[in-house]
Amino acid sequence: TKWVYTFGDGAAEGRAGDRNLLGGKGANLAEMCSLGLPVPPGFTVTTEACNWYYANGNAYPASLQKDVTTALDHIGALTDRRFGDPEKLLLVSVRSGARASMPGMMDTVLNLGLNDVTVEALAKDSGDARFAYDSYRRFIQMYSDVVMGLDHEVFEEILEEEKALLGHELDTDLSAAEWQATIALYKAKIEEELGKPFPQDPQEQLWGAIGAVFSSWMNHRAITYRRLHDIPESWGTAVNVQAMVFGNMGDTSATGVAFTRNPSTGEKMLYGEFLVNAQGEDVVAGIRTPQNITEKARIAAGSDKPSMQKLMPAAFNTFMEISERLEKHYRDMQDLEFTIERGKLWMLQTRSGKRTAKAALKTAVDMAAEGLITQEEAVARIDPSSLDQLLHPTIDPKAERNVVAIGLPASPGAATGEIVFSSNEAEEMRAIGRKVILVRIETSPEDIHGMHAAEGILTTRGGMTSHAAVVARGMGKPCVSGAGTLRVDYKAGTMTAMGNTFRKGEVITVDGGTGQVLKGAVAMLQPELSGDFAAIMEWADKIRRMKVRTNAETPADARMARSFGAEGIGLCRTEHMFFEGVRIIAMREMILADTEKDRRAALDKLLPMQRSDFLELFEIMAGLPVTIRLLDPPLHEFLPKSDQEIEEVAAAMKVSVDKLRHRTETLHEFNPMLGHRGCRLAISYPEIAEMQARAIFEAAVEAGKKTGNPVVPEIMVPLVGLKTELDFVKARIDAVAKSVMEESGVTVEYLTGTMIELPRAAIRAHVIAESAEFFSFGTNDLTQTTFGISRDDAASFLETYRQKGIVDQDPFVSLDIEGVGELVRMAADKGRSTRPDIKLGICGEHGGDPASIRFCEEVGLDYVSCSPFRVPIARLAAAQAAV
Ligand code: PEP
Ligand code: MG
Repeated sequence: TKWVYTFGDGAAEGRAGDRNLLGGKGANLAEMCSLGLPVPPGFTVTTEACNWYYANGNAYPASLQKDVTTALDHIGALTDRRFGDPEKLLLVSVRSGARASMPGMMDTVLNLGLNDVTVEALAKDSGDARFAYDSYRRFIQMYSDVVMGLDHEVFEEILEEEKALLGHELDTDLSAAEWQATIALYKAKIEEELGKPFPQDPQEQLWGAIGAVFSSWMNHRAITYRRLHDIPESWGTAVNVQAMVFGNMGDTSATGVAFTRNPSTGEKMLYGEFLVNAQGEDVVAGIRTPQNITEKARIAAGSDKPSMQKLMPAAFNTFMEISERLEKHYRDMQDLEFTIERGKLWMLQTRSGKRTAKAALKTAVDMAAEGLITQEEAVARIDPSSLDQLLHPTIDPKAERNVVAIGLPASPGAATGEIVFSSNEAEEMRAIGRKVILVRIETSPEDIHGMHAAEGILTTRGGMTSHAAVVARGMGKPCVSGAGTLRVDYKAGTMTAMGNTFRKGEVITVDGGTGQVLKGAVAMLQPELSGDFAAIMEWADKIRRMKVRTNAETPADARMARSFGAEGIGLCRTEHMFFEGVRIIAMREMILADTEKDRRAALDKLLPMQRSDFLELFEIMAGLPVTIRLLDPPLHEFLPKSDQEIEEVAAAMKVSVDKLRHRTETLHEFNPMLGHRGCRLAISYPEIAEMQARAIFEAAVEAGKKTGNPVVPEIMVPLVGLKTELDFVKARIDAVAKSVMEESGVTVEYLTGTMIELPRAAIRAHVIAESAEFFSFGTNDLTQTTFGISRDDAASFLETYRQKGIVDQDPFVSLDIEGVGELVRMAADKGRSTRPDIKLGICGEHGGDPASIRFCEEVGLDYVSCSPFRVPIARLAAAQAAV
């Protein structure tokens, strides 16, 4: 096996495509060498060697020692030096480099090969003793930290004491002799702390560093990072060893980092910083303020420190040429590291630059316009989830964050407001122009008006698909849910978090993108749906096959969704229409009615309201498909709960408290999610479904007349497990359709279909499809019932599951493809086997999740439906899934 790959002087054994074997850094160093760019010669020990090391009890492959020696000779030949030879001093850097960049792993040891003897040689070679001793002490510091495990702070303490003693302010104020004295203190400290001296043998130093890189693959931080980013352990890390070049050899030397475009805005303009007379880590460490690279950037920043362009024009020009060339070569924005040693430029790294969502859009669109990439590639380069950042106000990254609690990032965006603890208060405050954050232990459908009135929502209980989370996402409101460390006391009107007590009226900020709850107001950035956003969306629309609909029931949501490009409504949850204003009264009358006749009388009051709701939705959707779901939740959700509320409602409805309480008690269920809900309601009380069907058909007739667009409503029956359930309800729908058509003399085409949200429905899908003209996968309930995990109670243990590696992801957020997905796939196939043209969609929360959308494309669904703010994400994800 070949364990070591060399590069240098215009040639390399590896190339950019060898990322898996050489790691990102090693592969790109090889590529730059092959392009003839100035790269200090070196070699890469492969990731396979790392894997071998772990497979063999932390030992090295037999030939590795020899291969490394040969590779060191190769560097020596190219530089006319020899590793460990004070006469022809060769120093090296040692860096880790996995396939994906992994902060938290051992990163870099510079100046390796220095010892008490070679430091003299370096002083002589460079003619600068100060530089030599400074380099040596840096090496000791870095090596002790990353290889020997001695915290770098012990050295900083020594250095601070020395500077204080000598009356120096800056590190650069120390003379050669003073550094020499400091080094003696460093070495003494190492012996004291570790019981062994700092290694003087360059070979020992090198193997120590190589071993440390390999070991860092299994350190705690790296393991955590891998888990969070789905990086397999089997990848391993490579080790890069390179001849040292020095940015700290005086005022004609420098070191810097740059992006070929601005990583926060995407603007096409070299963006970077450098430090004169410094070594790599100084730029990142922020000890000295770096200078701009270009004059243009210096002027824009209003800096009075000269730019690299001004100070080192020759190196600058070479660097500009190289950066342009690399961007063209890699066809992407590059993140570069370089060093200038006595006027000569050396490239140390190139890789794809990390960027904000905004910059990602701009670079992708610009590069497509420049002809560097195709439109398809541009679409593929945007992370769909990152679009969330662009659709909501977000916290200014420069703002200070005073975090008082952390919950789940349930609905993105950030909002500031005064704390209120009830929905009525939220509404009252809103009415007088105040901005509020609604803080609840959890929310229920009764809180809709408060959630509407609030700028943001905070709950202490509930997961990513809790009521608060789902409704907030639907409304596009920031929401933090399940902030378990918060204690809310409704009676006292307080919220307690980490020793802070907040009263009603105090200002907090919720960041629904991170789950943070912050004290006070925080500076925000407003969303800006620029031309780049629109361009990417347009290109995505040309590529995707699946349609994208929205889950919406209010006109405001429906309009917003259309402005985001929704192609219809995939789920109108009609229960949300029953909570507003006088409707809840009629609804309660219906629930309290003792006879069918009284129930029908109450339903008659609801009919015109439902009809006008549907009419408005049909008008907004202007001929696009609209799926309306019959009433789903158990009836007790519409009744008051506390004694006080029961008394108030009884008085308002002019019924006795006893009667109301009795009805509430009889409707009580131990497990409402599995209780009297969904189509079970329509079977118990067909008149409810009939009223809803009538409202739908009458609205369809009217909308057709008004707009000239015939409406084809899709009526959806929830929570079906048996074909007979669907048939029972469908018969009622058909009967109502017939009579409305007779009364109006207008023919309305319509579809009747069902949610597939119970395992039994998936298993019997071929039979259910005999009656259902469409299926919409309700993956919220399907996940809940497949796992036997309650969506309202799962948050408390799912986080533990994630931490302990039992599950990678919350199955309510990203579809469990192996389990729940298998049911979806099976039901889709079975449905099509009975009815080849059956319309298939998904309307659970997963309809807006990119990974789940990829799966939906794979099983050939016709559309995904998601909350309005997720529509752009779904459009993009559907396009990426289609290629
Ligand atoms: C579902 O169960 O996936 C669904 C969309 O319905 P709901 O969330 O209203 O139960
Ligand atoms: Mg459901």
